[in-house]
Amino acid sequence: MTKIMAVNAGSSSLKFQLLEMPEEKTITSGIVERIGMKKSVFSIKLNGDKLEETLDIKDHGVAVNILLNKLLELKIIASFDEILGVGHRVVHGGSKIAESIVLNEKEISYLESIVDLAPLHLGPNLTGIKAFKEVLPNVKHVGVFDTAFHHTMPEESFLYAVPWDWYERFQVRKYGFHGTSHKFVSDRCAEIMGKKPEEVNVIVCHIGNGASICAVKGGHSVDTSMGFTPLEGIPMGTRSGNVDPAVVEFMMTKKNKKAKEITNILNKQSGYLGVSGVSSDSRDLVAESAKGNHRAQLAIDVQAKRIADYIASYYVYMGGADAIVFTAGIGENAKSTRSNVINRVKALGVEIDEERNDCRGVERLISTDESKVKVYVIPTNEEVMIARDTLALL
Ligand code: ADP
Repeated sequence: MTKIMAVNAGSSSLKFQLLEMPEEKTITSGIVERIGMKKSVFSIKLNGDKLEETLDIKDHGVAVNILLNKLLELKIIASFDEILGVGHRVVHGGSKIAESIVLNEKEISYLESIVDLAPLHLGPNLTGIKAFKEVLPNVKHVGVFDTAFHHTMPEESFLYAVPWDWYERFQVRKYGFHGTSHKFVSDRCAEIMGKKPEEVNVIVCHIGNGASICAVKGGHSVDTSMGFTPLEGIPMGTRSGNVDPAVVEFMMTKKNKKAKEITNILNKQSGYLGVSGVSSDSRDLVAESAKGNHRAQLAIDVQAKRIADYIASYYVYMGGADAIVFTAGIGENAKSTRSNVINRVKALGVEIDEERNDCRGVERLISTDESKVKVYVIPTNEEVMIARDTLALL
């Protein structure tokens, strides 16, 4: 019996899942929220029940201690020794890290040297890693990187047409994100089709609050819609996706704001929220548009059109695709978004079966038997991927 902890540390939160491996069975999961604020919330799920406690948790170190002691108290583990490895989700591995790695001093120093590539996420990831390493010093800590899966992108996909020096000296290039999910889902898709990953071309649409599309050719990412940061690509809950970069200076002048403030607006007040003016949540937009709110429908359509643009482009780039897969919060749950997107790429010979598409959060084929490209819903599971990679490195 091997227990592995999968961890995702954010700036004020820490999500965790304890898995039994190699069975890939979730023993317990939970989240610590509002770390560093008054009334932090610790919640843990066990046998279908959710226990919640409100207390003041001043930093990630305290959060880790509380979490681990809770596992003892609830008799989920008899001692810390039962946890054989901790897998940490890390947002960015820079241009060097192409796979999951054991996190020792050297690797942590490298990550510290690239914090400015993703300051909002990588900083908190490192805080989480250090906090866990301190409490569990004798356990192997593994980093599983959102960017790693995209290392197989060819230069023509990852290079921006900017001065060479920007790339060489400052590492300005497309990195891509959600790699753990794109890999999990594309591997699973091949398995469902009774093929090896090398034998199929899959277009993965990971559509949640954050969203990205990935062209997976023979098991490898060859292009993806997110770029240097998770802001590029399709419009998301609050992120704009692609805009003409000249908009930044234009709006700085018009609104008398700094570049940083405009970037912040592109990250936090755009996308669904910006276009609809109502909400960043797809459920609200679906409800609003049913009431006749034009801008809510427009927010959905602007995103669906861009997703369709990427699907068509990746289909051509890969020389065809065997499957298109929808995953993450919206991809798994919003049937209207799935049909909206697929109906825009009918020219590829893809056809959705609305009866099959009438589902939520389950693994299912949703294209017709005649469709030239299969369309699936496949729930993602980043924690399982993290635990698999951690186990492999133990
Ligand atoms: P992230 O992990 O990027 O924060 P998620 O993958 O959890 O995001 O996706 C969140 C999105 O999924 C929200 O926009 C939410 O409205 C949407 N979602 C969840 N359930 C449904 C549903 N039943 N119908 C439509 N959208 C849904």
